Amino acid sequence: MNLGGPGESRLAFEFHCGQSYPIIAACQLMIIKTVNNWLNSMLFRVIPPLCAVCGAPGHEKLDICIACIAELIRNSHACQRCALPMEAAQSDITLCGHCLRQPPHYDFSYAFALYEPPLDRLIQQLKFNNKLSYAQLLGSLMVTDIARNNGEPPELIIPVPLHPQRLRQRGFNQALEIARPIAKQLAIPMDTNSCQRTKATTEQSSLSAQQRADNIKGAFTISADISAEHVVIVDDVMTTGNTVSELARTIKKTGVHRVDVWVCARALT
Ligand SMILES: [Zn+2]
Ligand SMILES: [Zn+2]
Repeated sequence: MNLGGPGESRLAFEFHCGQSYPIIAACQLMIIKTVNNWLNSMLFRVIPPLCAVCGAPGHEKLDICIACIAELIRNSHACQRCALPMEAAQSDITLCGHCLRQPPHYDFSYAFALYEPPLDRLIQQLKFNNKLSYAQLLGSLMVTDIARNNGEPPELIIPVPLHPQRLRQRGFNQALEIARPIAKQLAIPMDTNSCQRTKATTEQSSLSAQQRADNIKGAFTISADISAEHVVIVDDVMTTGNTVSELARTIKKTGVHRVDVWVCARALT
């Protein structure tokens, strides 16, 4: 394992703009982004991609090698509603018991793989060690699957927003950064303005299931019309699904009929 090392070099000049930024800075940011894109494209020609996990040559222009892709535990048999993994023998069953008893507010979920090594390490490095280029990798890994398996494409992508306080601490929203290559490659518009996280919630991972549900209630606010019938929420990790369910509930109050969820990783607890 050599997380944080080899795959980083090619994208060392990447610059992040956050969820929103003042208009005054927009021109300056555009210039910086243009220069960054140019530097990245030049570096890409000189330095081939290396695996972010082991340092071997990357597979098909990705920062991960074919062997490490094979190590990812794909979420092949899962509840269609909440992406909870199910036994392969239950492949004719489409919904888990929890979704049958108490359906969430979203309609369908797709999770690329399980939150297990090496994917968990990549996501932790992205979120807590500022490895922003891993978002591009994770989004790109999801795209092929999504295009192949997820039926009717949504009209709009909404990344799960971070509270401004958390955004300032981290400097970027990992959900938005993962959604960015997905939106670009699938040519689906991304809305980062209509939805805000206005309640500063406790970190969900430190709470029990019931506490998570209470903690996230009323966390989101819609500030502009969402002119779409079918929206998809994108996030990095889904555990209980309380966060995306609350966001879906909030979005549906505006008249959106269908809200799907696309996440990179499905955690079990
Ligand atoms: Zn590798
Ligand atoms: Zn389910």
